[in-house]
Amino acid sequence: MYDLLITGAVIVNADGIKKGSIAVKAGKVAGTLKEHETAEAVETLNIEGKYIFPGFIDCHVHFNEPGYTWRENFETGSQAAALGGVTTVVDMPMLNKPAVMDAEAFAGKLALIEGRSAVDFGFWGALINSNMKMKKLEELNKCGVLAFKCFMCDPGEDYTSLNDEEIHSALSILKKFGGLAGFHCEDDEIVRRLTLNKLENGQLSRMDYLESRPVEAELKATKDLIRLAESTGAKVHICHVSHPAVAEEIRLAKRRGIKITSETCLHYLVFNEETLLEKGMLYKCSPPLRKKADSEALWSYVCDGTIDLICSDHSPATEKEKEEGELGAFGAWGGISGVQTTVQGLYHLVVNSRGESPCMVARLMSQRPAEIFSVYGRKGRIQEGFDADFTVIDPQVEWEITAEDLKYKNRISAFTGLKGKGKPVLTVVRGKIVSRQGELTGSSHGRLVTRI
Ligand SMILES: [Zn+2]
Repeated sequence: MYDLLITGAVIVNADGIKKGSIAVKAGKVAGTLKEHETAEAVETLNIEGKYIFPGFIDCHVHFNEPGYTWRENFETGSQAAALGGVTTVVDMPMLNKPAVMDAEAFAGKLALIEGRSAVDFGFWGALINSNMKMKKLEELNKCGVLAFKCFMCDPGEDYTSLNDEEIHSALSILKKFGGLAGFHCEDDEIVRRLTLNKLENGQLSRMDYLESRPVEAELKATKDLIRLAESTGAKVHICHVSHPAVAEEIRLAKRRGIKITSETCLHYLVFNEETLLEKGMLYKCSPPLRKKADSEALWSYVCDGTIDLICSDHSPATEKEKEEGELGAFGAWGGISGVQTTVQGLYHLVVNSRGESPCMVARLMSQRPAEIFSVYGRKGRIQEGFDADFTVIDPQVEWEITAEDLKYKNRISAFTGLKGKGKPVLTVVRGKIVSRQGELTGSSHGRLVTRI
């Protein structure tokens, strides 16, 4: 007797689609049954006419707990994730007080979150000045961090960036235990110089902000990092690639056999600098949005696999923090909230706008994130033995994102007003339904995911 049987399913994995039923036992996929084959289960769900995907993984979110919970917390963030069809999030170590830089900070954060998350969660560990020693990084790795986050430019309060020399020694340490480091690539010197110049001259407009973080800064940092990855042989991941020229460097590096992977966010694919100039600070992020033609061109790198995965970089703020104050566009918070809307936005873009297979969505938000963050085998595929994490999408449901739909602590997002077709209608985490038809079931059995 199975716990759950999902019938009438169109099962979408990254490498193909098949019809059948999925049997679940003790939170795992017990097997897939052929169409019309029957089996006994405590609960049977028929999902005729809908796609079922391996649960989606958003590998880059800022839920800001502990320490910055006026922006988001793990309850609201994970509930938004569940409603949006995300079954696992990987939470960033900064905008945490303290930053997740050692075993003590890791344990403190875990103790706070356990029992309150609607979805499974992994943690990024910090890679900063104060912890870039063998002992500390190994300690974090043993705790179970999935990757380490490093900045090549000023990260703001409570966190530090590393220079090239420091990155070299940090990567040499990570290499010893196969650790993955993810990088915010913008060149510190270029961004600092241009920003100071603008501030000194009182040039504080939206265009000035864009000009203070040009693609040259992102490109230089990426090239520097590729050199460091090559000389150390360590695994590196480039966060939020915003521009095709950056993606091209990554493509060439991959071709040379460098262990490099990359991500972009939905906002770089659906918005551009015109959106920021016209609509304002809800669209402020760093690296910033680029030109329309760049956003278009980035798409081909998503298709050819140079960009391995899509994430939200869910980075919430209050309405007040998003205002242009005394420092104009420079004073407003940079970051876009998107954990709840990335799956449906990406599905619509891939399947309806671009005419690609739903398999591509499974690749970008399930299989590749699972592989890169070392959880493939439990997550990332619908197959016997994997966790019973599923996202069901009804391809017929038309939607428009409204502020009331958002479960965030601050119901503001660049994505409100966006329209599309095909929406998550059922989210299952290890065999338990966590949201159904846009309603949460109240489950908070999400648990820590560590490397396999
Ligand atoms: Zn981020």
